[in-house]
Amino acid sequence: MATKIDVRDFNLFYGEFQALKDLTLPIQANEITALIGPSGCGKSTFLRSLNRMNDTIPSVHTEGEVWLDDQNIYAEGVDVVELRQRVGMVFQRPNPFPQSIYDNVAFGPRVMGTARRGELDEIVQASLESVGLWGEVRHRLKDSALNLNPGQQQRLCIGRAIAVRPEVILMDEPCSALDPVATLHVEDLMQKLAKDYTIVIVTHNMQQAARVSHQTGFFWLGKLVEFGQTEQIFSSPKEELTESYITGRRG
Ligand code: ADP
Repeated sequence: MATKIDVRDFNLFYGEFQALKDLTLPIQANEITALIGPSGCGKSTFLRSLNRMNDTIPSVHTEGEVWLDDQNIYAEGVDVVELRQRVGMVFQRPNPFPQSIYDNVAFGPRVMGTARRGELDEIVQASLESVGLWGEVRHRLKDSALNLNPGQQQRLCIGRAIAVRPEVILMDEPCSALDPVATLHVEDLMQKLAKDYTIVIVTHNMQQAARVSHQTGFFWLGKLVEFGQTEQIFSSPKEELTESYITGRRG
C-alpha cells in the first residue's frame, strides 16, 4: 500500500473557531477512505482542505502539512489550479452546468487547453464509459445535462471530474440526494474507480461507509477520534466514542 495523501498535525480555524484539531492520517492510494461522524464535526471542512477549497473563505487559516505524494500542498508557491486538477471534487447535489452532456464533460479539458475535436471526443467517451453512462447517453450528447435523472446527473458530475485525469477524487455526501437504486449505482462506480483513483468520501450513512470503503475515519468535534481499516472500525472499534456512535447510541 502506498500513501497518496499524508496529513500531518493539521489544524484549521474559521477566525477564532478551531474546526479541525491536530489531524494526522495517511490516505492510501487506490483505496476508498470514508469520513464519518455527526453533523458539524468537520468532515466537509477536512475534505475541502485536501484541495485547498477552503482558501476561498477569507477567515480561514491553517497550520500543519498535507502532503500529496512528495509535495506539501500548503507550502508557499503551490499552484492551486493545478492542485485542483490533481484533486477533483464531487458535491452533494448533482450540479451539472446548464449545458449539453458533451460540454459538461469537455469543460475541464477545454479549460486545460485541449481544443482538438477528436481528442475531446475521445476524452468525453472514455469519461462517460468510466462512469457507466456512455450507453445511456451516446445518442444524445447534445441534450441538456439537466434532462438527465438525478442519478445520471451525479454520474455525469463524476465523469466531468475525471475528464481532467485527476489522481484523487473527493466526494462530499455524493449520494445524499439520490434514491436507493441510484445510490447503489454510484457506490458500485466508486469501487470501480478506486482501481485508478484515490477516493475520499464524506458520508452520514454508516452502512455506505461500511459497504464501500477500505479505511474509515471517525470525526468528533473537529478531532479524528479513530482511523483504521473499515472492517476493524465497524466490528471492533478501539474507542468507546466510536462504538457508541456506530451503534447509534450517540450522534
Ligand atoms: P460536517 O461536514 O461534519 O457537518 P463542517 O465541516 O461542515 O462539518 O463544519 C465543521 C464546523 O465548522 C461547524 O461547527 C461549522 O459550523 C463550522 N463551519 C463550517 N463552515 C464554516 C464557515 N464557512 N465559516 C465558519 N464556520 C464554519
